[in-house]
Parts: sequence; structure tokens; C-alpha cells
Amino acid sequence: MTLSSHQSIEAIRSGRGTAYSPMVASLFSHVILDVDDVILRTQEAIQAGTQALREALVARLGPSVGGRVADLFSENHATMVRHFRRVGSSTGADQDVRQLKERMQYWQRSVVKAGFEVKQWSRDTFLAIALERAGCEVTAVVLDEALRCYWTEVAAASVLYPDAGPFFVRLRELGIPYHLATGSDGTLYFDDSSRGFTYDPERCRARKLGRLKCLAEIGIREEDVSVGDPHGKPSFAFFERVLNDFETKIGAKIDRARTVAIGDSYTDDIEPLLRLGVGRGAVLVRPGWAATGPAEAKGLGQGVGVLSSLMELVS
Ligand SMILES: [Mg+2]
Repeated sequence: MTLSSHQSIEAIRSGRGTAYSPMVASLFSHVILDVDDVILRTQEAIQAGTQALREALVARLGPSVGGRVADLFSENHATMVRHFRRVGSSTGADQDVRQLKERMQYWQRSVVKAGFEVKQWSRDTFLAIALERAGCEVTAVVLDEALRCYWTEVAAASVLYPDAGPFFVRLRELGIPYHLATGSDGTLYFDDSSRGFTYDPERCRARKLGRLKCLAEIGIREEDVSVGDPHGKPSFAFFERVLNDFETKIGAKIDRARTVAIGDSYTDDIEPLLRLGVGRGAVLVRPGWAATGPAEAKGLGQGVGVLSSLMELVS
């Protein structure tokens, strides 16, 4: 189901949520944004990365097995994306998500034992599960080699959405402070002897910031970004830190009721902030994206709307 921009804005105007424009400045005073698939064209970059991963796996495991593992890796990633792109709350995860999460929990058992959450976007884990399903041995060498190719290509292929630059220019013109809240990439390390992953939050965070270097092109600085390590989305611990980082940066309390949270996942980017007192949310559904879940965006909280472009919020 694709929500067109027209339908979405009409849904907002007809009582679900609020029509943002043209009274933008009076409606919100602060902005918190997700990064991947909101500012950055991550989905496209991931396709390029997956192709590089496929080539590495084929070179090591042969065309048949390597290709099968690459397909399973893509399937795992797509299952997570589908899960997080649904619009509105969902009643329980579907079967695929449950199975995937169960295997993630298994491979990340040492991460959990060390007191961390399961890193839900860990490509290392998606690949380990793919290798396992294809009947291949999971080793650090295979994982490292394929994922090095993957991340190098993702970083190289990551470009900004064309509305991102003008959006931040407009926010600066309006004097509206902003802060970015990005999830962890869940970079983990495989230990061959215990056959499981370990996690180093600082290294993981540094890797993520490295991948987001192109944000500098539109004037985003490192201090404008909170990264989901060690606590990640959708935990309150993460979003409390986001609000805290934001206030520390601007040296003032933010008016939560007049803050808007923007993201491509209602449950991961917006809902936790609403629960922490943020008054407004905007789910970004870019044209051509299939948003899964309740068609009329039922389940979206009060003050939450759907956008197809960032500029709809400020023009
Ligand atoms: Mg996102």
C-alpha cells in the first residue's frame, strides 16, 4: 500500500494529526530527525553494498552457494525493513520477524550477556544467519571479507536526498534548532572459538559516524548527531540521550510539546519520543515506497502526520 502525498495530507487535515504548513513556525520550535532513508538515500546504497557482498561471497563460496547466501542475507535485511516501515502500530510481529529475531538473539547471546540490547540492524548477524541457513560454516574470515566489501560500497554509494540541503537551509532561516537521531549499524565482531558475536559500542559508533561523513556537505556537524550505541532505537534510554544531547548542544531546554520528530519508521523514530512528551511526529513515506500496515495510518498518535518530502513541513 502506497500512501500518496495527497491522501496523507488530506488525512492529516481531516482530523488525524495536524496540517503543518503554512503555519510551520508557530507549530513547532525544534526538530529531531532520523538519518537513514530520511536524509540519506540508504536504501539505494544498500542495494549497491549487497551487490558487492554477493561478489565477495561468490568469489569465496562459488556461484551457487555464494549466490544463495547473498539472497538469504537480502531477505533478512528486507524482513527488518518491512517490519520497521509499517505505518502505525502493529499487533505483534509477523512470523518472519519472530524467526529472524530469535536467531539474532542466539548469535548475539554474548552481546546480551554483556548487558546490551540485541543490535537489530547488525549486518554481521544477518550474514551469519544466511550462512547458517545455507548450511555453510560461519567464520570471522568469511564475515569480515564480505562485510568489508559491503560497507565500503554502502559508504561510497550513500548520497543525500535532494530536499535535505534545502530543508536545513530553511530551518536555519526560520531559526528552528534541529538534532539528528540515528540508529546503530550494529557492527559486531565474530569470535570463532565461542561461535558468537561481541560488541564494542565506541568502535561501532565511530564506524557509523564514518559512514555519515557526507552530512558535512549540508552543514551537519558531528555534535548534531546522536548515534544508537550502546543504547539504540527504539529504547527510551536512547531517546532520553537524544533529548539531552540536543539540549546540551543548544544550551537551553527544548519545548517538547512544540518539537516534531521525523522518521521513516513510526515505531522506531517517532513513537518513543511522543511517549517522552514530544508533541508532534511526521512519518516520511517517499514516493514509490510501499508503506505497510494500516492504510489510513490508524494507530498514529495525536499530532502525527505523513509526509512525502521534508519540504512539505517548511514550505
Ligand atoms: Mg530510517
